[in-house]
Order: sequence, then structure tokens, then C-alpha cells
Amino acid sequence: MRKKTQYIHAGVTGDQETGAVSVPIYQVSTYQQESAGNHSGYEYSRTGNPTRHALETTIAELENGKAGFAFGSGMAAITSVMMLFKSEDHILLTDDVYGGSYRLMSKVLNRFRLDHTFVNTSDPKQVEASIQKNTKALYIETPTNPLLKITDIKRMAEIAAKHDLLLIVDNTFATPYWQQPLNLGADIVLHSATKYIGGHSDIVAGLVVVKSNELAQDIHFIQNSVGAILGPQDSWLLLRGIKTLALRMEAIETNSHKIAHFLQQHEKVSDVFYPGLKNHPGYEISKQQAQGFGGMISFDVGSAERADQVLARVNYFTLAESLGAVESLISIPARMTHASIPLERRKELGITDGLIRISVGIEDAEDLIEDLQSSLA
Ligand SMILES: *Cc1c(COP(=O)(O)O)cnc(C)c1O
Repeated sequence: MRKKTQYIHAGVTGDQETGAVSVPIYQVSTYQQESAGNHSGYEYSRTGNPTRHALETTIAELENGKAGFAFGSGMAAITSVMMLFKSEDHILLTDDVYGGSYRLMSKVLNRFRLDHTFVNTSDPKQVEASIQKNTKALYIETPTNPLLKITDIKRMAEIAAKHDLLLIVDNTFATPYWQQPLNLGADIVLHSATKYIGGHSDIVAGLVVVKSNELAQDIHFIQNSVGAILGPQDSWLLLRGIKTLALRMEAIETNSHKIAHFLQQHEKVSDVFYPGLKNHPGYEISKQQAQGFGGMISFDVGSAERADQVLARVNYFTLAESLGAVESLISIPARMTHASIPLERRKELGITDGLIRISVGIEDAEDLIEDLQSSLA
């Protein structure tokens, strides 16, 4: 089955009972048992729900894993994966991970003495040098936010195998349509499905897919024990989002290339961060490990004042956090998504006051470019 067909036919696609072409929304908490302990496979919806199961089966197939799991948010998914570890274990993470993941590790899970180090995972040498005796996992994000740094997933898988670590990849930015970390050696892949997979700015959700039956059992045990599950309505909305993921990612890709090249030649833009540009340091690795570069572009207009001017003038870009939707979004990381990161740390990471981040949508590229052109003027 080719990729676009897979997005329509993978997983559970309808209802065998009635022939309904859309998976029904099983808005139910409990299930009648024939005799005590003798049930049809479902007993209680925290443990399993048919609509959620359809979604979980579908994402598992799309990421080429053994099993999938749906959670109430990306952070719920990440937290549940972290429940695989115990106090005194140590996790190595990409240094510019999503702000919520940074907060989870440094302000919540540290209370349970789950130890961590942030490291530049674009540099395999630094990763190897940071491994400790108690290191249990390598947690990476690629591309990263907002500077679109690229980590070599295969190289990380080699390091993980050598040191007996789990390799966990946050695949939110690339989506399984462009990048399949399990095929490159990762053990666990996870998503904020709030972004591209949902795709319409109308759901908050998280997904996890694992490579082995053993991890599937462990994550299901945690999902059922902790209970951070996704409800049936939102599971259904994600199934619906997945049907058009291929079309959306293709359209976003085409638009993003045009916009990145437009920004690159613009005299008022000093730097453009987009892995699809040949001068991006992660271009070659990105080309090898992903089939597309995605829809996130950051660019520097020199100062907070100039950034404010651009934001005030755009018509088709909505000023908002989040990303991955059909509508184009624009934000200033230093004052929005990354405001909680101390100034010094922001400087180290290269998140300047004049940095603007856009999430390219599926509007007509010409309109988006004209909009940026007049806003930058
Ligand atoms: C948004 C995001 C998350 C968190 O997901 P929520 O659905 O907002 O909880 C995690 N990782 C990345 C890369 C994200 O963009």
C-alpha cells in the first residue's frame, strides 16, 4: 500500500456491525458482561474504548509500530512515557525540547528524583559524553522548536543500542507522513496530536507508538493505571484529521518551500531557519531521514520592535501559540512559547527578540507571500 492510500485505509476504518464508513463514537464508560469476568474485550473505557482503539490501531500502523496509545494531551503522553522510569534513573534530552517537556522534567519529575541532562543532540559526541551509569533513555526532538535543529535519528539509535538506552522521539513537527523514527531504530515515538495530526486547531491530544510487545504491555499498564486517556469524541476527531494528513502535509510542504525562499532573499530578514534550505546545518541529515521538511519556519527581523510591526500588519497569519493547523499561525517565541526560559538561556539557544516563527498553513502561497512582503516593507 502506498503512503497516501495508507492514510485512508490503515487501521480501523469503519463499523463492521452496521457498515458505517466512519468509526462510531462510542460514548460509553462501561460494558455489559455476559457473566462475571466474561466480556467482549471491553470492560471499562479507561482500560479500552472502541473509538480510541480504532485511533490507536491506526497510528500504530502509520508509525509502523506494534501498538499505539492515545492520551488527553501531548504532555499527558510524555508524562506517561516517563512513568516507565523510576527515581535515580537518568534521561538525556535534546537541549531545546518543547517548553512543556522542559518544565515537566525540571519542575515536576525532578521532585520524584528522575534525573535528567539537556544536551545538544545534533552533536553525537556530546551525547556519548553525557551518558552516565544510570542513564536509561535518550529523548530527542527533531526538528526542534523554534530553530529547527536536526538530530540524526539513526546515529542516536546506534548510541542507544550501544549503551542499552531506550530511544524516544517526539515526532510532532515531522509527523509520520514525513518521518518514521521506529524505522530508523527508535523504540518509542510520540506526538502532540494537537498539532499536525489533529490539524484544525480544535483538539488537544497526545499519541504514543512503541516498537515491541514488551513496551506495549508496559505503556498500556501505565495508561490504564495513570488514566490520562483521550476521550471518544476527540479520538474520532483525530481519526478524521488523519484522513487528510497526507494532503495537508503535501500542501504545507509546497507552501513552506516557497515562503522560505522568499524570506531568504528578503533584505530585511537576517536569518531564515528552515531545514529545507541547503544552507541549514541539518539539511543533509534531514533529507536522509525524512521525506519532507515540514511547515515550521523561523526568521530574524533584527529587533522586538520590527517583529511587533510585522505581527501588527499580517492579515492571513493568526497571532497564536501552537502550530500544525490548516490556517497559518505566527508567533514571537521569546515573548510567547519560550517566555518562561530565562533570558540568558534563550541567548545561548539563539532565540533572539527579533525571531518570528511561522506555522505555514494550506492557504494559497501567493497570498501568504504577499502578506509577508507588505508586512516586512
Ligand atoms: C505542543 C507540543 C507538545 C505538547 O503537546 P500538548 O498537546 O500541547 O500537550 C510536545 N511536544 C511538541 C514538540 C509540541 O509542539
